[in-house]
Amino acid sequence: MKRYLVTGGAGFIGANFVKYMLAKYTAGIRIVIVDKLTYAGNLSTIQDELNDPRVTFIKGDTQDQGCIAEIFKQHEIDYVVNFAAESHVDRSIANPQVFLETNIRGTQNLLEAAKSAWTAGKEKDGYPVYREGVKFLQVSTDEVYGSLAKTFDEARELVLHDAEMKRLVKDRVSMKTYGDQFFTEQTALDPRSPYSASKASADFFVQAYAETYRLPVNITRCSNNYGPYHFPEKLIPLMIQNVLEGKPLPVYGEGKNVRDWLYVEDHAKAIDLVLHKGRSGEVYNVGGFNEEENIQIVRRIIDTISDIMMREPKYQTLLKTDLNHINHSLISYVQDRLGHDLRYAIDPTKITTELGWYPETPFELGIEKTIRWYLDNQDWVNEIVSGEYTNYDERMYQK
Ligand code: NAD
Repeated sequence: MKRYLVTGGAGFIGANFVKYMLAKYTAGIRIVIVDKLTYAGNLSTIQDELNDPRVTFIKGDTQDQGCIAEIFKQHEIDYVVNFAAESHVDRSIANPQVFLETNIRGTQNLLEAAKSAWTAGKEKDGYPVYREGVKFLQVSTDEVYGSLAKTFDEARELVLHDAEMKRLVKDRVSMKTYGDQFFTEQTALDPRSPYSASKASADFFVQAYAETYRLPVNITRCSNNYGPYHFPEKLIPLMIQNVLEGKPLPVYGEGKNVRDWLYVEDHAKAIDLVLHKGRSGEVYNVGGFNEEENIQIVRRIIDTISDIMMREPKYQTLLKTDLNHINHSLISYVQDRLGHDLRYAIDPTKITTELGWYPETPFELGIEKTIRWYLDNQDWVNEIVSGEYTNYDERMYQK
């Protein structure tokens, strides 16, 4: 029996990870979800899992020492997967304080609780000695690396510098790229926003616990995720919703900023692999080989929705506008975000070659699946949108 503590499991990626793990490991697994249920965490996202006897849900804050210590004591946790975070860059610009509290203090509190619970006071040569088979996995982001240069001239074929990776990814994934620089695990951290500064600090604490106390840890640094249950303030779900409502689609600046997009289930698979097969103490970058300018993402969403609506007229009842209005004229350029990073691009050679992971879902397939999920789950969206988000400035939309 393996027992997982999944923090932030009522949020977008955490919930998708829990769903993936429960489906994959039908026996021998227990998951304790701890989530503060901020505006971004919703029990409706994990409704089925709450009824699963393998899952325990605890409403709690990762900064709460008593609560976290009690969870370790009660549930004999083997793995911690720390998703809990304030995750929205625009919110971090408006209110950095809570990012420091949750993302840094919360992570350090979890590290300390794991250290105490997993050693039970045992030491050798002054270092703590840990129970076999335990690990702390910090879910981090490519944003800690800062921003890459980009040439807008033309997309060119990515020259994969590793033959093994080339074989693995074959033509399953888009290999377009907007530059020849990539983030590797050796890239120096250079966070630019309060969000990425808080995530980088948390990464340093994780590394410090590994070095100072020999805590078994991994850090994964992933690019932008998309998929079901993504909170509607983020780029892709916001655009889908605005298309359905016939509202303008706000695009920062000229829409030329480049992000790498990964289907969320592929991220869950990567975390599962790193947790069980990753070398202790290592950082693994996780990326989708799927760089795209924001404007191209927005255009694709418009085109895909329009296409689905024409092929399957039953979905037209979801439209609050005329089908003819679903076109690129909905795009509305708005003032750029402060300090908007130009390009993020991940080099996932290490996880690909060491652990055999690769992004399995091509973007064309993933985006259609995602759009269909939103079309089929408007009740979920409405429940979320009727809450705190309705008071939120709709211009603020990106990760
Ligand atoms: P999210 O905002 O959808 O979910 C965060 C969850 O954490 C919510 O359920 C929220 O209620 C919970 N939470 C917040 N503060 C908490 C606290 N103090 N104690 C307990 N729970 C708390 O975020 P997400 O997009 O699912 O991201 C999850 C993690 O993955 C984050 O650490 C983020 O930095 C990282 N990440 C996200 C992306 C992405 O594209 N979304 C990419 C790479 C890495």
